[in-house]
Amino acid sequence: MVKIKKNISLKNLSTFKIGGRVRFFCEVRNDKELLESLRMAKKLRIPYKIIAGGSNVVFPDKILNCLLIKIKSNRLKIIKNKIIIDAGVSLLRVIAAANRRGLRGLETLAGIPGTIGGAIVGNAGAYGHSISEVVERVEMLNETGDKRWVTNRNCKFEYRESVFKKKPYIILRAVFNFQKGLPADGRGNPEKLQKISRNIIKIRLKKYKPGLRCPGSFFKNVLISGISKKSLALIDKNKIIDGKIPAGYLLEEVSAKGMKLGGTKIADFHGNLFVNTGGAKAAEVERLAKILKSKVQKKFHINLEEEIHYF
Ligand SMILES: Cc1cc2nc3c(=O)[nH]c(=O)nc-3n(C[C@H](O)[C@H](O)[C@H](O)COP(=O)(O)OP(=O)(O)OC[C@H]3O[C@@H](n4cnc5c(N)ncnc54)[C@H](O)[C@@H]3O)c2cc1C
Repeated sequence: MVKIKKNISLKNLSTFKIGGRVRFFCEVRNDKELLESLRMAKKLRIPYKIIAGGSNVVFPDKILNCLLIKIKSNRLKIIKNKIIIDAGVSLLRVIAAANRRGLRGLETLAGIPGTIGGAIVGNAGAYGHSISEVVERVEMLNETGDKRWVTNRNCKFEYRESVFKKKPYIILRAVFNFQKGLPADGRGNPEKLQKISRNIIKIRLKKYKPGLRCPGSFFKNVLISGISKKSLALIDKNKIIDGKIPAGYLLEEVSAKGMKLGGTKIADFHGNLFVNTGGAKAAEVERLAKILKSKVQKKFHINLEEEIHYF
């Protein structure tokens, strides 16, 4: 039976360590428990919200009036070149399993915290690759509580976007197919893949020191296909990577580095990294984000969009 806890602090449920309290909270380990928790929310007549690794969220300072459901499902099964994974499995575990078997496609995502569900919602990625490249299909609960499988195409993946960001679907599990776009048998060399992941983790650790209270990159990079010629003319072309302008570059151009508001600080070494230096408040984060967006708009006529999810 699912155990419902009351009046829980939100701080330790996210890597940013920000937030007030939530009225009701529970953890679910499988579909049965998830369905039970949804029935409980109905009975309590309160909305529900989903959380997983909490590595891409900003919780509010006030009381969150909902049942917050943490997805902790953890089954992982490998069949030839496919992996069937529950939404609550950590991305790290899947990458390690794939690398060990020489399944190529996720090795550059090593070091991204969080779960498979969270990674699919935001189409997480790094170093020119994103999770959508290996997703074959996703099983989810739709708004009426029915289970459905959706194909990669129907996930509507784009840069840091998916259908799951726009609709109240709950991801249950996914099938990853490591053959897509890869050599005929989909297999690489395990040692080579593990080395790539290890090296990337090493590089990432320089930016994200262990224990750093942050939600990863705050804003999305900007697709050049989505901006005006006038804006593009203002950009140093050497800064464009894979058709995107790093949000960090735009923010650094408006002197974001080192800016501070209460306990929230923009890292001295990266303009797109919001850090909780201790006791940071969601209100400060939102205010600082608003100030920076307006500065970038004024200088480049570009609207920065948040990559993080406000609750
Ligand atoms: C240090 C650090 C580095 C990072 N680096 C990167 C990076 O390089 N690239 C990148 O893309 N991201 C990066 N991130 C952001 C984050 O790790 C990813 O977005 C991650 O995939 C989020 O997964 P999560 O389980 O933590 O999701 P959460 O933060 O728990 O949730 C994110 C959103 O997804 C929803 N959600 C989660 N699970 C489900 C589910 N099963 N069904 C429906 N909705 C669900 C939540 O409601 C929420 O809206 C970084 C974060 C940190 C802290």
